[in-house]
Amino acid sequence: MNVRDQHIVVIGAAKSGLAVARLLRENGAHVFVTDASTIRDHDQQLLKTDNIEFEAGGHSQRAYEGSFAVVSPGVPDDAPIMQAYMHAGKAIYSEIEVASWFCEAQIIAITGSNGKTTVTSWLEHVWRTASLTHVVAGNIGVAFSDVVASTSKDDWALLEVSSFQLDHIDTFKPAISCILNITPDHLDRYENLFAKYAASKMRIMENQTETDIFITWNEDHVVESILEESEQATKGPQIWRFSSQSEVDNGIFVRENEIIFQFDGQEEYLMNVGDIALPGRHNLHNGLATALVARAAGIATEHIRHALNTFEGVEHRLELVREFNGVRYINDSKATNVDAVWYALDSIRVPAVLIMGGRDKGNDYSSIIPLVQEKVHTLIAIGEAQAKLKAQFAEIVNDFRTAESMEEAVKVAKSLAKSGEVVMLSPACASFDMYSDYMHRGEMFRNAVEQLT
Ligand code: ADP
Repeated sequence: MNVRDQHIVVIGAAKSGLAVARLLRENGAHVFVTDASTIRDHDQQLLKTDNIEFEAGGHSQRAYEGSFAVVSPGVPDDAPIMQAYMHAGKAIYSEIEVASWFCEAQIIAITGSNGKTTVTSWLEHVWRTASLTHVVAGNIGVAFSDVVASTSKDDWALLEVSSFQLDHIDTFKPAISCILNITPDHLDRYENLFAKYAASKMRIMENQTETDIFITWNEDHVVESILEESEQATKGPQIWRFSSQSEVDNGIFVRENEIIFQFDGQEEYLMNVGDIALPGRHNLHNGLATALVARAAGIATEHIRHALNTFEGVEHRLELVREFNGVRYINDSKATNVDAVWYALDSIRVPAVLIMGGRDKGNDYSSIIPLVQEKVHTLIAIGEAQAKLKAQFAEIVNDFRTAESMEEAVKVAKSLAKSGEVVMLSPACASFDMYSDYMHRGEMFRNAVEQLT
């Protein structure tokens, strides 16, 4: 796509919007950035330095006049400006789509409801272990547009991709794509239709052809049932699967604690399950996915083995903060949906005090009730979700409490946890009612735990 001299409107001036505006400007486009809300002073300065025109606090006529628009993941399709572009028959692209126009590196794209950041970071660890040049970007905190210019055709772009970024792709074509899992999340952005959210994730493979590889979890019934109906599954990329439960033909699986690659009837031993660096069943899945993506990229088995064995994990995801008086304090602040809490509970083997709550996203908690019954003796609810959590869990746990701050929640947890047990923050909810984001929430938990005496 030649963007030179085109008039392009960037909707939303957060990190990726600002990055794509710069990228387009550098490539000769006339860019106009518009944001319904404020733009930080610092960012306004940068826009001025880069000679990019902008407006904040609403959309003027000019915002509607782009030959196409580039949208930030935070802007929903029903926003009036999006509707206006759609009704005018003009294209709307996501930032990763636009960045991919300028990308010569081979793209690896990872999506899923849970595990994206873990797997993308784990892949980075593999690529480092194998000394391969790469960039890591996408939903992981670095905009693809900010790093794409530094890549060449011998590099790899390791991208974490969200459903919102996939909603507005057009030609985005990964050499290797992976859907880790699809479980309910963000349904508020998809008219409460799970099928719509799933379809959005499946778009990761829509432009892939037979030389490309699509990787999926063999036990994900959502993906498997979409693949059964999909023409792209027969005509498109090769499909490789990972599984901890059954032996797959093309992919990676577990047999009696041994992890094995299998392609065209040929098996190759990788390592033992116990040598995977991170705990929990979900991290076995994440490790299998990481190994298979690395294999698809042609990385030598010894590098994969070493990297799977030495990865230290990502903070705020089942992160052990401290062991104090025999109690392990675990920060899983990134568990912002019910499925992530399911895996968190599944991963612990001892009785627990669970801190949950925040802003409920229309959660259905039924899937975790058996695990809560089995493992949690005390549930401490924080934030806006307190009343709903009380209604769901007060009869199920021995002790149901509420707390008004993280400090209070941690103090109450300390008073009720016995030696040998676990205190875990695994909220199932968004953090925005009390904190700026999940990292802020996790840090408050960490601070409170570190201050316990
Ligand atoms: P994402 O980037 O998709 O949000 P993260 O790697 O940040 O995923 O993990 C988010 C939460 O989900 C954490 O609480 C983590 O422990 C949990 N989790 C990680 N991988 C998986 C998985 N494969 N299945 C379910 N939950 C997972």
